[in-house]
Amino acid sequence: MVLVGTIELTLGSQRGEFYCPACRDHRSYRRKVRRAFVTLYFIPVIPLGKTAEFVICDTCRQPFEPWVLERPADEIESMLRAAACEHVLRVMILTMLADEVVSDEEDRVLRSYYRHISGKELTNEQLQFEIEQLTASGLTPALYGAQAADELTDREREEMVIGAFLVASASGPLSDAQLDELQLLPTALGIDENRFRELIAEAMEFEGA
Ligand SMILES: [Zn+2]
Repeated sequence: MVLVGTIELTLGSQRGEFYCPACRDHRSYRRKVRRAFVTLYFIPVIPLGKTAEFVICDTCRQPFEPWVLERPADEIESMLRAAACEHVLRVMILTMLADEVVSDEEDRVLRSYYRHISGKELTNEQLQFEIEQLTASGLTPALYGAQAADELTDREREEMVIGAFLVASASGPLSDAQLDELQLLPTALGIDENRFRELIAEAMEFEGA
């Protein structure tokens, strides 16, 4: 009996330096090719057509598409930064929606902090779209934050807390429901209590509030 099978092998170890989208910094990498082979008696003999190329960061071990090697660091960083600002915005919107009333003060501070972090103006259409999507999602600020946390730098997680606090406190003292919700956020983002207090103090000094 001839034993025939297939196996996937990871080959090649071209090395270099790149801007890692997960570490958000310059790192060394290995470029690999995964290729399927037909095996005879467990020995890979015939390469099959399908190959998958990827780049692995030596620090975080995450795989990326090879195109990350061709883009300049500042281009990758500005893409990631824009995505992070959208995440912060969505947590602010979820916080705004938590008390079921959208006040003018909440709307104003939300736009002000978004402008502060992103350098962009939030349009009415964009806000309306996000409100509809997030209302339908059933997510809370902490649940959303926990999902997005992996894509954020430490500072971007902190901006999420500051943004949520600014919106929650925009129309006077926090309600119990808002306070409960707000206290879940730092835990979801891996921020300890001391740092949380410092961030609240920082939020209270935000000029656009
Ligand atoms: Zn990395």
